[in-house]
Amino acid sequence: MAYKIGLGYDVHRLVKGRPLVLGGVEIPHPAGLLGHSDGDALVHAVIDALLGAMGRSDIGRLFPDTDPAYRGIRSVELLRRVVLRLKRRGMSAVHVDIVVVAQAPKMAPHAEKMKRVLGPVLGLPEGSLGIKAKTNEGLGLIGREKAIACWAVALVESRPGKTTGRRRPGSRSGS
Ligand code: MG
Repeated sequence: MAYKIGLGYDVHRLVKGRPLVLGGVEIPHPAGLLGHSDGDALVHAVIDALLGAMGRSDIGRLFPDTDPAYRGIRSVELLRRVVLRLKRRGMSAVHVDIVVVAQAPKMAPHAEKMKRVLGPVLGLPEGSLGIKAKTNEGLGLIGREKAIACWAVALVESRPGKTTGRRRPGSRSGS
């Protein structure tokens, strides 16, 4: 069994009048995250962590924000597609840990619900998904509630005999 790790980071602006969606959960708040999709920075960070573990680039390359197909899409749906890609490479997530940096609203009360949404999508049991919330101590744009940032790290296992890389055109199958 080989193990890979990936690190993801994302930050989105908070703007008035948009629903706040984080970890696939809608959180009551007067402002939400700006984005081409639902703006779910937490899920975007997890996606980038998984793509990193696959040796791929990032969410923007896979799901461009210029593509109308992804306008307003639920980021959990994008995560589902990335987990499918992971499976096709004989890989699966073993553990994911996430830090949400938000001055407001309080995130901790929503963490369990986020885990109940994300756990099944990632194929992770309760003890293998961590979600922690921090404020930014009032510092900078996050501290002034202008943005929310998220970090995620993913440990991924790849089963022997399965391909873990991108197959190049013309390369032999069965590797
Ligand atoms: Mg994003």
